[in-house]
Amino acid sequence: SSAGKSFRATLFPGHGIGPEISAAVVEILEASKVPITWEEHIISVDNVKPGQDIVSREALDSVLKNGYALKGPMATPIGKGYRSLNLTLRKELGLYANVRPCKSIPGVNTAYQDVDVVTVRENTEGEYSGLEHEVAPGVVESLKVITKSASLKVAEYAFAYARANKRKMVTAVHKASVMKMSDGLFLSCAQQVAKNYPDIHYEEMLIDNAASYLVSNPGRMDVMVMPNLYGDIVSDLCAGLIGGLGLTPSGNMGKGCMMAEAVHGTAPDIQGMDMANPTALLMSALMMLRSMDLHDTADKIAKATYSVLKEAKYTTKDIGGNSSCSDYTKAIIDRIDI
Ligand code: NAD
Repeated sequence: SSAGKSFRATLFPGHGIGPEISAAVVEILEASKVPITWEEHIISVDNVKPGQDIVSREALDSVLKNGYALKGPMATPIGKGYRSLNLTLRKELGLYANVRPCKSIPGVNTAYQDVDVVTVRENTEGEYSGLEHEVAPGVVESLKVITKSASLKVAEYAFAYARANKRKMVTAVHKASVMKMSDGLFLSCAQQVAKNYPDIHYEEMLIDNAASYLVSNPGRMDVMVMPNLYGDIVSDLCAGLIGGLGLTPSGNMGKGCMMAEAVHGTAPDIQGMDMANPTALLMSALMMLRSMDLHDTADKIAKATYSVLKEAKYTTKDIGGNSSCSDYTKAIIDRIDI
């Protein structure tokens, strides 16, 4: 346990609704007396010339030193020669796995009540290698890169996550029937890792089959691990099963660090209007607390949040309520049982 320990974490408030929802989350965490000192870094394109990196070396070093970061959504200026902010963070921090737990929230009405699935997505290669070229007019090739090292790493993470979070099963999702070599290698790496986790049931499922199962019987699935593109799609599908991106947390695992972030964007349409839903970022922050071993505090905050959501009296517009971000935040704080 982490009783008596204290932590430093880097805070990127981000853009658009980012500062509002980050402030709400920090307020909730502080009210719960979490032993975290925040190191805030504002990432902004002001004073940065196109072609230069927008994320400063200091900001990256802060995450690498602290080992933990909480990140609000960020917008990269389009068409001005800037490298995507999210891509820079992913590359520089070596964020090799993206983890998205999706669990049904009582009181949030969706077509499903029993969803409790976790997507573990390989985050560095696959179809997103960025290697595309035109081989002849009208013919392009895009390279999908699968390596043994990245596949072993993400599989190891998925099984360790399953064990640490008392999950029963890991499913490797693939299309090795067609992509025999690339997805075949991914599968053989997952099989190799599975041997070290006899306590976790291991199975394999074709991506098309998994898509069908997820919408017909999501309760059947548990932890899923998969290459980049499949993970991108399946994790959003799972977010939809529990009520959308405004509720879905995400954690990125890197070299000696974890960065928690919401999966939604900067929502410029409601920026500055005190209307944003901070739940996704809050749930992401709870993933960070859990990786600090602060499970009791995370449980208390989750309980208070679920109770406010279930009562549906102080919820935000995006999920059918009528409250402001600050009233929702206050309702959660009032209900935290310290
Ligand atoms: P978006 O997620 O910002 O918004 C889509 C819709 O969902 C909007 O109507 C918005 O109001 C609503 N919404 C999103 N989050 C909400 C929340 N927490 N509470 C209430 N409503 C919420 O997607 P977009 O409009 O496609 O993108 C806007 C910007 O965000 C773009 O610049 C994009 O590049 C960036 N973006 C960043 C990230 C990230 O940093 N991880 C992810 C996606 C998009």
